[in-house]
Amino acid sequence: MTTTFDPIPATDLFQRALDRMLAAAKHSKIDPEALDRLRAPRTILQVSVPVRMDDGSLRIFRGYRVQHDDSRGPFKGGIRYHPQVDLAEVKALALWMAIKCAVVDIPFGGAKGGVEVDPKRLSPRELERLSRGFIRAIADVIGPDRDVPAPDVYTNARTMAWMADEYALITRKLQPGVITGKPVALGGSRGRDDATGRGGYYCLKEIETLRKWQPAQIRVAVQGFGNAGQHAARLLHSDGYKVVAISDSHGGIHCPAGIDIPVAIRHKADHGKLPESADYQRITNAQLLTLDVDVLLPSALEDQITGDNAGEVKAKVVLELANGPTTGEADRILHERGVLLVPDVLANAGGVTVSWFEWLQNRAGSYWTEAEVHDKLRKVMQKQFHEVRARMEPGNLSMRMAAYGLALDRLGAALSAGGTRQDFFSRP
Ligand code: NAD
Repeated sequence: MTTTFDPIPATDLFQRALDRMLAAAKHSKIDPEALDRLRAPRTILQVSVPVRMDDGSLRIFRGYRVQHDDSRGPFKGGIRYHPQVDLAEVKALALWMAIKCAVVDIPFGGAKGGVEVDPKRLSPRELERLSRGFIRAIADVIGPDRDVPAPDVYTNARTMAWMADEYALITRKLQPGVITGKPVALGGSRGRDDATGRGGYYCLKEIETLRKWQPAQIRVAVQGFGNAGQHAARLLHSDGYKVVAISDSHGGIHCPAGIDIPVAIRHKADHGKLPESADYQRITNAQLLTLDVDVLLPSALEDQITGDNAGEVKAKVVLELANGPTTGEADRILHERGVLLVPDVLANAGGVTVSWFEWLQNRAGSYWTEAEVHDKLRKVMQKQFHEVRARMEPGNLSMRMAAYGLALDRLGAALSAGGTRQDFFSRP
């Protein structure tokens, strides 16, 4: 495929995200000109956010909002608080959001935000000042019809409440549709809290049917016990799956007989760490990835399964609840070894799908029951899971390549709707 556009210099994670997209374009009908338009973000905003700390000192935090593409609808993507946030990461995450919204066929584009901060070292008052300051800094580029943020790593419904309130103060009107993942009391959607884990769970239920699994015989390991990982673990546990390992940023626990997930969730909420018991063996995050299990759920951060450890992954199914947990080299190794990898752009798309439901409810001023949200989410996930699967078969494609191919067809249709080179230069 020829290209006419020289990409701006990109650092590692973004370049790798771009390479993956370009490789997948071979499995799509996207026009080369449309593909060129997806090679670089539309907008990159870097901001400095001054925050008065509780001890009286002033600290300046660096933040970003990257808007990748809005050809299918307003930009959409979470805001991450993490000490390792950098521009390359936010750009990669924004590109993945554009692909993800197209995979589940919802009318949004892709964006992402991030602040370089260790939120565990800030008091709640400092976090509120930072969150409000970040929204003041990016207010000009967001809005319900323009760019709609949401939670990501180390941000949550309360962070979104502060941000939505700050946006209302700036614009002097209530606009709940500017942000999703809000508390239900402030216009959030029922069912948003567990939507990411639940969307992945619905994908696994389809695999359960296809492979005729008996849940009690299926061992699951979950890396990352936050919003995405906890809810997926809880739903699988309640169906009888044996969740044998979980982890957080401090490491993991392993119990071949199965971990009591509701107890672990309560313990993590009350004490900020995983439970300890004579039955639970301490393991590292690296050990968790290569345990003898059937299903692996990377649910923390990027670049966890790499060329170095992919050959040792024993799971037969990897469900990427995190964004970008598997490198390109690991992808190839897992595919060659016959591991079914459900890619992030499908597996964790339940979160943005219910964010879309929240945005629709905010615009209509009318709210759905939790059962309605679950039902609508299940239908979206099932439909798109099988659309992606159908594209795998003819060429023995990986599920990731099939999902990207489908997304690029949809993005290409929007980007080329105004005409392509042939339309403007064809001679009678
Ligand atoms: P979270 O902040 O709720 O939880 C993150 C979890 O990861 C915590 O348990 C933390 O202890 C753990 N963690 C941090 N560093 C780790 C490390 N080095 N090794 C292992 N565990 C580590 O975040 P979340 O919302 O659950 O997000 C997790 C992943 O899911 C991210 O990749 C995020 O982009 C993705 N995701 C989240 C949503 C959402 O709606 N929350 C939607 C789509 C994708």
